[in-house]
Amino acid sequence: MVARNRGVVGSPRLTPAHPGRFSGDDCGQIGDHKHRAPAYAWVVKRYHLRTYGCQMNEHDSERIAGLLEADGYEATESVDQADVVVLNTCCIRENADNKLYGALGNLKVNKEGNPDLQIVVAGCLAQKDRDLIQRRAGHVDVVFGTHNVHRATELLAQARADGPITEIWEEAMTGEAEAFPSALPAKRETDYAAWLTIQIGCDNSCAFCIVPSVRGVEISRPFEDIVAEARQLADQGVAEITLLGQNVNSYGRDLALAARRSGEEVRVRPMFARLLEEVASIDGLRRVRFTSPHPKDMTPDVFETMARCDAAVDHLHFPLQSGSDRILAAMHRGYTGARYLEKLAEARRTIDDVAVTTDIIVGFPGETEDDFAATLEVAAEAAFDSAYTFVFSPREGTEAARMADHFCDPDEVKDRYARLRTVIERSALAKYRARIGRVEEVVVEGPSKKDPTVLTGRTAHNKLVHFASEPLKPGTFATTRVTDAAHQYLLGELVEVTAKPRHRTRIPVASVPS
Ligand code: SF4
Repeated sequence: MVARNRGVVGSPRLTPAHPGRFSGDDCGQIGDHKHRAPAYAWVVKRYHLRTYGCQMNEHDSERIAGLLEADGYEATESVDQADVVVLNTCCIRENADNKLYGALGNLKVNKEGNPDLQIVVAGCLAQKDRDLIQRRAGHVDVVFGTHNVHRATELLAQARADGPITEIWEEAMTGEAEAFPSALPAKRETDYAAWLTIQIGCDNSCAFCIVPSVRGVEISRPFEDIVAEARQLADQGVAEITLLGQNVNSYGRDLALAARRSGEEVRVRPMFARLLEEVASIDGLRRVRFTSPHPKDMTPDVFETMARCDAAVDHLHFPLQSGSDRILAAMHRGYTGARYLEKLAEARRTIDDVAVTTDIIVGFPGETEDDFAATLEVAAEAAFDSAYTFVFSPREGTEAARMADHFCDPDEVKDRYARLRTVIERSALAKYRARIGRVEEVVVEGPSKKDPTVLTGRTAHNKLVHFASEPLKPGTFATTRVTDAAHQYLLGELVEVTAKPRHRTRIPVASVPS
């Protein structure tokens, strides 16, 4: 078992779980005010939660929201109405620091107008910057990191009693449920779909990535706990689950290693395919996705499981990052462009009609025009359905950030980025156009943002379809006939409803794009 090392910065004192929930200072703030006598003057406390960054952060935010709601808070989209504002930060994306301190600068005005307002900074940037946050923004009440999300409400109470606090744990508590955000109460953004964390941390060392230093080593959640939670979600009406991990397809390697060390005769290999199959066979789950896998750890049994299990969607997110062997080696990715393409060909041989998406970084330190040409070649051959493309930007604390002598010329990078987008959009358009005339099942997300008379749904391939239809509730499954396509969406018409939603409807958590 990994030793607990909480690395607390600031006051280490603990307070009882949910202090003040029914105590004097709570003063009857929890309850259904519509059905209470006015003499009690019930006041609902409100929180405003902003999420920056990746799905892991979205998932952590669901847990923070769940903890706050278990403590009697209600969500609000208005900062002005909030008693607590939580900024769940990400240090992976560009300008994360500027965005955080810009937001904190604005919140200072709110705090001056309402000294009782509590401001919380959580997430990767908090894990990285620690007490620097309160040094730069003295009006922040609570800072906590990625390993102690479950302490959110306790820290708020502690800060109310004792003043500002920063609490960062160096690593998760192995073997304890709280290490996994999925094990905490949640308030999901949508009720028909859920994230399910199967693993936290990452054992790789990609030169551009801050994750290993802010999320720690890989720890897999016990197999049975994941399956039990997936069953519970299905019982609650969830129809789509995304299995989440930083290196999702290496799930279980640490569990097998621990079993071997304790004397069991087991092979030390990932258990991801077995887990995917088990979750995908749960009654009520119509779609099981996973993100993000690592190409170097991808094994044929995962593709075979995707091909065999109806609920395991035929969509593979397969991060390439670069097509140049030299740059892939500098990134420590553990594969070459050719090896990546071999694995992709194997996926396409095994899984009928699989959609493939990817991540690519342009302008990694030292990238030459030849390196970039290799990326274009691999991207063209891979013929992706879509890609998240990024211009390299150094993240403090990463190996790549220390390669300043080799940073690429920004104008060249801009030009390369545009050329890469042309290649990606060409294959995307071809892939999307290939769907014209087909009948695709979608899960309805709601009215289209641009035209509220049209509905938007998502196919198993994760493609958006805008389609004319009678009003349908989010979470409805329906078939649509695809009539037209662009490189990022399909147009269609309703054929028939295939399954009505089974979940209860709730108000979404506020979220901001990074
Ligand atoms: S596999 Fe690489 S990019 Fe992904 S989280 Fe781990 S270090 Fe970061």
